[in-house]
Amino acid sequence: MLIVQKYGGSSLATVERVFNIANRIINTYKQGHKVVVVLSAQGKTTDQLIAKAHEIDPNPSKREMDMLISTGEQQSVALMAMAINKLGYPAVSLNAFQVGMHTNSTYSNARLKKIDTERIEAELDRKNIVLVTGFQGINKFDDITTLGRSGSDTTAVAIAAALNADKCEIYTDVDGVYTADPRIVKNARKLDEITYDEMLELAALGAKVLHHRSVEIAKKYNVELEVRSSFNDSEGTIVREVCNVEKMLVSGVAGDKNVARISVIGIPDTPGKAFELFSLLAKNKISVDIILQSIGRDGTKDISFTVARSDLHDALKIIKENLERLGAKDVVYKEDVAKVSIVGAGMATNPGIAAMMFEAMYNAGINISMISTSEVKISVLIDEKYTEEAMNAIHERFRLAMER
Ligand code: ASP
Ligand code: MG
Repeated sequence: MLIVQKYGGSSLATVERVFNIANRIINTYKQGHKVVVVLSAQGKTTDQLIAKAHEIDPNPSKREMDMLISTGEQQSVALMAMAINKLGYPAVSLNAFQVGMHTNSTYSNARLKKIDTERIEAELDRKNIVLVTGFQGINKFDDITTLGRSGSDTTAVAIAAALNADKCEIYTDVDGVYTADPRIVKNARKLDEITYDEMLELAALGAKVLHHRSVEIAKKYNVELEVRSSFNDSEGTIVREVCNVEKMLVSGVAGDKNVARISVIGIPDTPGKAFELFSLLAKNKISVDIILQSIGRDGTKDISFTVARSDLHDALKIIKENLERLGAKDVVYKEDVAKVSIVGAGMATNPGIAAMMFEAMYNAGINISMISTSEVKISVLIDEKYTEEAMNAIHERFRLAMER
């Protein structure tokens, strides 16, 4: 088999850990597999490099920044090659240039466009374990780019797709994807499997297990991922297109406190007003999440919506400036709100899911102020102070249904 593995920075933080991972890689190689390994920078290296840059200039050139912070990954692959060699096995380290990992030109947040496979394949044919720098690429100017924080996941998945690998294993400091944040929900459980769409929703809701782009690429090229611990041998979570749908009502519960609600009161109940309001916000790069419009009465209506709390100030300012143009009477807001969501591929075909979620909220005595649904997600807006309680109540309600 051709196996792509990715190891995160915390599993490479010390010499002992480097050798520990080297042994794991060698074990896979000894089973007769071709092994390509993508590595992140060791420990806090990337943060330290950023701090170093900021000592020189708090707002440095993005090109130079990428030149600097990409060095962490180059250290990792070279050191790992040395460790594997030291243990008596053949390994070669390659950076983005040597591989040919082509990205667009956006420094600090580049997108992979194409990965050349010739060099990697040649090294595999020479029976080498191939160690590739994560996180970095090259653009059309032959400059180094980086893929955004945590981008090594994306490198690994893209290489697996390019090489048509049999497996892509992401080794990290958690042992898989959980039904909820275990620090908040005591009964949170590791999932055996999850679909790409569910994983994308969970990532958008703040689950930091995988880089968002890596899941998009995995879905696009149908790369089956396994997320597992780099510290133990326990089974991880498989991310794939379809899971065992029978048992799969809800795969995760998430809470998000970076939310605020804005209500625009007394807008004329005529065509084009929603368009006017939301294009105004879009023009100012403010994303809107849940939207609720009241039924028109006496020729006016109210439109409520949520934005990231960090955007609240800007959004209010823009709306106030345009209140007259919108023909609205007033704008009000509420800051101490939170969004609690359930994610599950099974909900599209299972009409009882929303009712179960609302029942859990009712039993906990928590009021719902807004609701939004999609094929794989239901979100409710509630008072912020009930976030943890709501997550637990909902998680408990679905716990039996989630036994999969
Ligand atoms: N070293 C980079 C970061 O810290 C990329 C990665 O770890 O995936 O964001
Ligand atoms: Mg990571």
